[in-house]
Amino acid sequence: RPSDLPDEIDVLIVGAGPAGVLLAAQLAMYPSLTVRLVERRGGRLAIGQADGIQARSNETFQAFGFAERIIAEAFQLTACNFWGPDPADPSRIIRNKRLEDDPTGISEFPHMIVNQARVLDYFTEFAANAPGRLVPDYGWSFVGLTVAEEGEFPVAVTLRRSVGESEGEERTVHAKYVVGCDGARSAVRDAIGGKLQGEQSFHAWGVMDALTVTDFPDIRTKCAIQSGSEGSILLIPREGGFLYRMYIDLGEVAENDHGEVRKTTLDQMIAKANRILSPYTLDVRNVAWHSVYEVGHRVTEKFDDVPAELTGIRSPRVFIAGDACHTHSAKAGQGMNVSMQDGFNLGWKLGQVLEGRSRASLLDTYSAERQVIAQNLIDFDREWSSMLAKKPEEFASPEELTDFYTATFEFPAGFMTQYTPSILTGEPTFQALATGFPIGKRFKSARTIRVADANPVHLGHHHRADGRWRMYVLADAPAAGEPSETAALAEWLRTADDSPVTLFTPEGADLDAVFDVKVVYQQRYEDVELGQVPALFLPRVGPFGLIDYEKVYAVDPQRGDFFEERGIDRSGCVVIVRPDQYVAHILPLTARDEITDFFGANMTVQRSEHAGLG
Ligand code: FAD
Repeated sequence: RPSDLPDEIDVLIVGAGPAGVLLAAQLAMYPSLTVRLVERRGGRLAIGQADGIQARSNETFQAFGFAERIIAEAFQLTACNFWGPDPADPSRIIRNKRLEDDPTGISEFPHMIVNQARVLDYFTEFAANAPGRLVPDYGWSFVGLTVAEEGEFPVAVTLRRSVGESEGEERTVHAKYVVGCDGARSAVRDAIGGKLQGEQSFHAWGVMDALTVTDFPDIRTKCAIQSGSEGSILLIPREGGFLYRMYIDLGEVAENDHGEVRKTTLDQMIAKANRILSPYTLDVRNVAWHSVYEVGHRVTEKFDDVPAELTGIRSPRVFIAGDACHTHSAKAGQGMNVSMQDGFNLGWKLGQVLEGRSRASLLDTYSAERQVIAQNLIDFDREWSSMLAKKPEEFASPEELTDFYTATFEFPAGFMTQYTPSILTGEPTFQALATGFPIGKRFKSARTIRVADANPVHLGHHHRADGRWRMYVLADAPAAGEPSETAALAEWLRTADDSPVTLFTPEGADLDAVFDVKVVYQQRYEDVELGQVPALFLPRVGPFGLIDYEKVYAVDPQRGDFFEERGIDRSGCVVIVRPDQYVAHILPLTARDEITDFFGANMTVQRSEHAGLG
């Protein structure tokens, strides 16, 4: 599609970094919306920037359908080695510890390294092929915006051609919503009066992606290397087998530095790397990319344009996401990952509100949820960075650094995010019914068997980024002749006037258009008779009214009993999961009003005969 920026746009995304492309990919799943992604660059990112992909991001890639392909081309991190000065001769480094990268099996997905450019490529490909057929409009720079108090498209945005023959030409478009994913120097953030708050001081690293010949034995393993007096290196092997990345610590940047640190040459970086690695040597044969990366620990107070005192009174029109909201070191490998999760959090909410399925107040939850996560990230990164910067003699014990790495592993893997009770997150009253699915945390998948075809299936991998809510009905197992709570719940969900499926699914849409309801039986698949399974779990979908057989599962004792692995009470329960994969609520199979009320807090009734109800 040639660039054809319309005058009126539902969502204008500024910046095609990780936050912006994920948001674009998600919104491309809503073909009724007019969405545009403008990017200052003239084309795709080719090289450089971040490369660490945490397991949580791979789960997200799975939802966008490209996890397997990107994993195949990535470098998988399975270990982290720690090097420090030799006590007998501090001018030499020795290996202190080898650590497994994911000792607890936190996810079935790997922790890996792949260039940011490839991540952007995959999301861009997804967006272009999704129903919304969204392609970025390269070569447009955001200049400024104003928000009118009224009007259907209240945000007037000035854009300027940043490349090509018409460079410098300006254009005004009008949007319902604008999202600034335009990085640490965000002009959208400035336009809404947002400020990155935090440390004034910056820390600098020389970064190089290099091809080298070396006698350092761990060159193909992630290493944190601390020398006696020359500083430290974070070594990250790269995809492809020969390339690796080195972050060479250039120290704190003085306030009056005026960009001096950015003049550090490649030769100076290489010389410093050699001094840190002594007695080993690096013979650098080629450098694919290098940069001086200078950041402080900062976070913006609010991630939208509504001042704190007006929150809940008017809803936001302009949002910021990713580095526009939070900046921190590269040491915990978080930048790209957390930025993507910002986009994932906001995307379905915008889609749902713009399609008239939720009230605009749903959008207040974006800043409320993500600001806390950003602050936690800054706090974690500050602690980890200062640990890595400590001199050997400053540690309380030789194990302090590695103990911290092991104890906090869940955080950098992306799994510490836990949303607190809100209209989207229920109270943990019934948490005991499924202890392995903490409310507010991401749904941790487990293996099941699909009953219809006896295929082993990771239940969570069916969760696609299609904006739908999931309800997992984890079935009870009544004795023969006893009533089944699962069957009663399924019948109520499918047919009752006051069930959320009835109330919130648009007239004429498929039964599973808004709620993807799946059942997991605690029996083996041979003991589940498809003919006896409630109709809710075998919906007729699509233009031909075909039966969807991918909603009925049983335990897979050979690979682990789902009920045991996730601490499910044998009386069963319902696990409600948000479109961005977070566990929203857990309720007993007997719940009725509680389920409707939960969804009613964020959704609007879709059927005219029920219009008075919600
Ligand atoms: P970004 O990836 O910064 O994307 C912002 C996008 O917005 C860019 O494509 C930019 O061109 C575009 N843009 C900016 N202003 C405008 C405008 N006015 N109009 C239109 N488009 C605009 N992290 C690491 O972990 N390791 C690293 O080595 C590392 N190196 C980095 C080097 C550089 C030069 C930069 C900029 C970042 C680096 N990062 C690194 C940080 C990491 O890339 C970010 O944390 C991550 O990309 C954040 O994603 P984002 O989508 O929020 O923003």
